[in-house]
Amino acid sequence: MTHDAAQRSASPATDESRVLDLLDTLLREVPPSSSTPTEFLGAQFDAGLAWVHFPVGHGGLDLSPKLQKLINERVFAAGAPNPVYRNPIGHGMCGPTVVVWGSEAQKSRYLRPLFTGEEVWCQLFSEPGSGSDVAGLSSKGVRDGDEWIVNGQKVWTTLAHVSRFGLMIARTDPEAVKHAGITAWVVDMQAPGVEVRPLRQMTGEAEFNEVYFTDVRIPDSERLGQPGEGWRVSLTTLMNERVSIGGAIPAKGSGPIREAVKAWQDLPAEERSSERLDGLMRLWIEAELLRLTNIRASQSRKKGTPGPEGSIAKLHMADLNKKIYEYAVGLLGAKGMLYGTYAMARPETAMGYDTVQKAFMRSRANSIEGGTSEIMKNILGERVLGLPGDVRVDREVPWSQVPRN
Ligand SMILES: Cc1cc2nc3c(=O)[nH]c(=O)nc-3n(C[C@H](O)[C@H](O)[C@H](O)COP(=O)(O)OP(=O)(O)OC[C@H]3O[C@@H](n4cnc5c(N)ncnc54)[C@H](O)[C@@H]3O)c2cc1C
Repeated sequence: MTHDAAQRSASPATDESRVLDLLDTLLREVPPSSSTPTEFLGAQFDAGLAWVHFPVGHGGLDLSPKLQKLINERVFAAGAPNPVYRNPIGHGMCGPTVVVWGSEAQKSRYLRPLFTGEEVWCQLFSEPGSGSDVAGLSSKGVRDGDEWIVNGQKVWTTLAHVSRFGLMIARTDPEAVKHAGITAWVVDMQAPGVEVRPLRQMTGEAEFNEVYFTDVRIPDSERLGQPGEGWRVSLTTLMNERVSIGGAIPAKGSGPIREAVKAWQDLPAEERSSERLDGLMRLWIEAELLRLTNIRASQSRKKGTPGPEGSIAKLHMADLNKKIYEYAVGLLGAKGMLYGTYAMARPETAMGYDTVQKAFMRSRANSIEGGTSEIMKNILGERVLGLPGDVRVDREVPWSQVPRN
């Protein structure tokens, strides 16, 4: 985040006991069993226990992000709702971006209802011609007094159909090099000229969308960062995205690997071959390696701002999830082909995989969403291993002069 919360902290032991006291009060005064999810999450935000490293008054206490794990364990054990399920993109990416780049007014207006899930958010970055190379985007924003007029098309926008707000980037200076001519805003998804159309995926449902912008007016007060600073804003989002998607630290043996263990336990005894057990053990070890790597990465994120290590977790998670669900669906034999229904549905969350078959299909997207595995390898090669960079011919050229389709 914007501050070095960990270093500011007077004493980790004092901070921890303060957080524990606040947790006791929260759980006593607003018990999850007798409050609505919105009531509980609102009270959690007001107590500064939403994102503990955020500033005081904006859902945090200015303390080390390490304390969030303790908070989450305590509230979930008490039956509290998980804010991520209600608003995954908002919680994992948009909130952490607004807190770094937003004005005081934006932070006060947006963070609380984002955390409670009363207002769902989406991320409007990818375009038909710019996914991996999102800095090459073509949507345009033109200043008009106190407003910007935005035109263009976004694609793969998860949960745009239920979103109240979106985090958007568009090109505002075509004569600058591609990374320099972009500006970021908070967009009202109900504004005139915003049109959301479903995009169906291989699970049958449409959790993501195309979003068209036709002369959409965005007040300048909704800008995040300075004009032309949108790329830096989006890096905050993308770094948080990688950690949000790949950086979870589940309890040992939980998460996708638990599904594989369950599929093994459900097998009749005569089908539990040593070869299948060997496969399960290999996956279990890999899942544990990922978990331990994420613990190590979270220790090195003491300042609250994720770095390239998020790419290690994202890369490994994508590969492992596919392998785990391939294994689990394989154990089902012919039943693995039974899928329920492909009827078009519009899910309200991007986190629901109720069967192994569905999880198997959804896992194929893991190596694309949040940056593809090839791009993760590029980042790790260049920024962590110091290998020669990818070939980039358009870096120093004004965007308007770069050839494109
Ligand atoms: C389930 C899902 C949800 C998503 N949700 C959102 C969302 O909410 N908001 C949003 O903005 N976007 C979202 N996305 C979009 C996602 O970020 C992009 O799909 C992703 O960045 C890849 O971009 P692309 O699809 O344009 O593929 P491309 O960039 O066209 O890539 C095509 C192929 O070329 C490879 N490739 C491209 N460049 C290089 C290179 N330099 N070196 C090596 N290989 C390369 C890629 O790895 C890939 O295999 C979502 C995607 C999925 C699958």
